[in-house]
Amino acid sequence: MRSRYLNQLTTPYLFGAVTDQVERHPNPVNLGVGDVSLPLPSCIVEQLQEQAALFGTETGFKGYGPEHGLSSLREKIAKTFYPMLSADEIFISDGAKTDIGRLQFLFDPSITIALQNPTYPTYKEAAILSGKTSFIDLPTLPSNNFFPQDLPKADLYIICSPHNPTGHALTRAQLQHLIDTARQHKSFILFDAAYASFIQDPNLVKTPYELEGAEEVVIEINSFSKLIGFTGLRLSWTVVPKKLHFRDGQSVHRDWSRLVSTYYNGTSRLTQAAGHAALSQEGLQAIHQYMQIYRQQAQSLKQALSPYFDKIYGAEHAPYLWIAASPSYFERMGIITIKGEGFGSHGQGFVRLSALGSSYTIQEAIRRCSQFANLSLT
Ligand code: PLP
Repeated sequence: MRSRYLNQLTTPYLFGAVTDQVERHPNPVNLGVGDVSLPLPSCIVEQLQEQAALFGTETGFKGYGPEHGLSSLREKIAKTFYPMLSADEIFISDGAKTDIGRLQFLFDPSITIALQNPTYPTYKEAAILSGKTSFIDLPTLPSNNFFPQDLPKADLYIICSPHNPTGHALTRAQLQHLIDTARQHKSFILFDAAYASFIQDPNLVKTPYELEGAEEVVIEINSFSKLIGFTGLRLSWTVVPKKLHFRDGQSVHRDWSRLVSTYYNGTSRLTQAAGHAALSQEGLQAIHQYMQIYRQQAQSLKQALSPYFDKIYGAEHAPYLWIAASPSYFERMGIITIKGEGFGSHGQGFVRLSALGSSYTIQEAIRRCSQFANLSLT
């Protein structure tokens, strides 16, 4: 009776284990779960209030929206982030995580999936739950600049960049190589760009669609969660270009439209209005400030920890630090981290620290680390 796939999931889900640790500790400083801490900018809050009030009027009340998202928001996203694509290639959803799960139903259970190791655990778990059994590891290590040069043949490459947990953003060359490999094998890339807004380096691309051939092979998942603090509101989008075709010539765009219509009745109109506000001129300025604050926090944490560790990865294109250390080093100070192997076997020996907490959290973590180091010296 019970789905056989449930047995293959690790218990509990990685971030649930962090919550347990936080509850157990008397005075924890949580650098574990990558949730945001800054409040929403006023232009978004005002938009939410205005739209909510309209729902209480006869003329302003509205029911279900289009299941693929309001066309005005689809247009806004296309214009802001994907000038090379059209609005109907953008599908609005209530979370990247939701779509990571749903997208699996586009693919036959017989496919082989290549996954970064370590990586965000939802990819593999969602694949398992939809009956996939064949997986290949892409070792994602400091020694290979967090991306294997020899890419194995696979039907689907699930790639996160900037990468959770290591913070590495694929270079143009790495990404182009991936796209070329997928084109050569007539495979697809599921590209999770949830942290793209952290990228500042002009040599890197914020979306693979800037590169040659990407529209033929890439489905991009993206989200307002880390972009502007919508982890509680829930709003995301998935890009499915019309140039994507399965090996038998069927249109992926048509299938995805159909599949979404079955599983979804559309994202909350209120949340979508908030998304609109986020992409207004005022909202974009607020996004810029948010990114500055989190980047600054990541850099402060990295600087403060650098005397104690040889190498600290990440913190530049993502709000995560990836450090070769034992979680117990931090646990002794009441600092909660995530152990690297929670993201995959190649994460063993590392911990992930998040810089998305409040400034108090970051300062307190820094204070405890320096106090602990001084104590160890005396
Ligand atoms: N993708 C990655 C790589 C993440 O790290 C997260 C959340 O931490 C998500 C997706 C989930 O995003 P959302 O809040 O839009 O569901």
